[in-house]
Amino acid sequence: MTRPIRLEIDLAAIRHNYQHSRQQAPGARAYAVIKADAYGHGALEVAQALADIADGFALLNLEDALRLRRAGIQQPMTLLEGAFDLEDTVRMAENRIAGAVHSPHQIAWLEQLQSDLPFEAWLKVNSGMNRLGFQPEAAPAAMDRLRAHPAVKLSTIMTHFATADDARGVAGQWEKFEPLARASGLAISAANSAATFRHAHTHGDAVRPGITLYGCSPFDDVNGPELGLKPGMTLSADIIAVQHIQPGEIVGYGATFQAERPMRIGIVACGYADGYPRVVPSGTPVLVDGKLSGTVGRVSMDMLVVDLSALPEAGIGSHVTLWGQGLPIETIARAAGTLGYELMCAISTRVPRHYLPA
Ligand SMILES: *Cc1c(COP(=O)(O)O)cnc(C)c1O
Repeated sequence: MTRPIRLEIDLAAIRHNYQHSRQQAPGARAYAVIKADAYGHGALEVAQALADIADGFALLNLEDALRLRRAGIQQPMTLLEGAFDLEDTVRMAENRIAGAVHSPHQIAWLEQLQSDLPFEAWLKVNSGMNRLGFQPEAAPAAMDRLRAHPAVKLSTIMTHFATADDARGVAGQWEKFEPLARASGLAISAANSAATFRHAHTHGDAVRPGITLYGCSPFDDVNGPELGLKPGMTLSADIIAVQHIQPGEIVGYGATFQAERPMRIGIVACGYADGYPRVVPSGTPVLVDGKLSGTVGRVSMDMLVVDLSALPEAGIGSHVTLWGQGLPIETIARAAGTLGYELMCAISTRVPRHYLPA
């Protein structure tokens, strides 16, 4: 038997989440963001599950986009960081893969491009996040340069928000971006998941939801299910040993947990090398055969420990849900001081994936 741990990926839930996210922005196209291997869910599997309903896909790597093209995915695709060299621009144009143009050096590559098919450019504006993009003042000249070149088709003007998910919102960035965007006459794309759900005035022509496709909330104050989303992944593993411990005995590395009463504990075949965060404290919620319990002591590389004291029927082979169905990933992320994004992306390749059909 293989080690009893698994990542169940619910493609029907991801389809539901895509449609639900797109419904928030009824007038816009929705590019499903499937970078980072679809946030750990498998870019090809997710793209295939969404192929007949998605308006387009947004990715990072040309190699990933080409893999989807080879697998028969015909939808529009755009690369969020654009080309990384001149060669990329050629292959993107040939394969109808659009890309962000965020810096002058990328325009210089495009000016050398010779291609029968045009390169579809999404001009990226830095409206205040200060990561990628042209300053608003520099954007008109960049647009002129792109429009002057016959092998380039400038289709879209885009930006990205730093605080769409919290109370600060998007006002400052939108004020810088909107006039420029309207004046450009291009398709407008600004909204990530948070802006798709909470800042309708920024929807423009193409929204770019990522995290909500996978059932996780971008907001601190609500979890995915409260937004109408279904978990895309469920991480679970089985109990492989049981210990009975007495008051005063310790559990795990560092002896950070000491029993105050007699306890029955279960050893679960999941550790930080699988992607479960090491930093969570004792008491972090788990479901043992569907019943709520908590972790005990430190998470080790290959194992973690759960309290079975109140669950007499649980034992070897019991199924422990670490997050997903019935236990929002946001709960574990908060306990770890991080986001569902990071937990999803950190699942190790040694965890077998099982796909539930779309
Ligand atoms: C990752 C990313 C998104 C999606 O963000 P979510 O918060 O996951 O919705 C959208 N646009 C850009 C440019 C991104 O890098």
